[in-house]
Amino acid sequence: MKLLESTFRDNILITRVDYFLNWARLSSLWPMLFGLACCAIEMMATGAARYDLDRFGAGVFRGTPRQSDLMIVAGTVTIKMSSRLKLLYEQMPEPKYVISMGSCATSGGPYWQHGYHVLKGVDLVVPVDVYVPGCPPRPESLIEGVLKLQEKIRNERLLARGISSVMAS
Ligand code: SF4
Repeated sequence: MKLLESTFRDNILITRVDYFLNWARLSSLWPMLFGLACCAIEMMATGAARYDLDRFGAGVFRGTPRQSDLMIVAGTVTIKMSSRLKLLYEQMPEPKYVISMGSCATSGGPYWQHGYHVLKGVDLVVPVDVYVPGCPPRPESLIEGVLKLQEKIRNERLLARGISSVMAS
């Protein structure tokens, strides 16, 4: 079984199919329509005509987690909100990604010391793929974050990993 597993891992066909799938996925990211505080205003500006996130294939914001593969956490995550945020994340289909936008989402921001009601980093409840710094980050920064995420998706080995895990089971 081990021999078969390594045969598939570096197979040229699998690598090319992986490349094509990754290209398709990174070129059609669907962010969730979801904002928490002031950073969300910059996120909306990023999606509007001037910055036009659609140019990067990520401008179709969806109103339901079930049709989204990208959660942009834009704003302050209160402790009360964190369980709802985790639920939304769990409702998104795999493969899914998270961008932490702004210092509030990343570390509590201006509330990191005395904000008893604020979560000190959204990565305490969901896994984060890309952190975008700033208070608030400008649309250019969020676009840079999306490009970083696309770079990460480009190098994923979904298919090869899937075959390996099937063969291992
Ligand atoms: S990081 Fe700054 S701009 Fe963003 S939600 Fe927090 S306080 Fe508002």
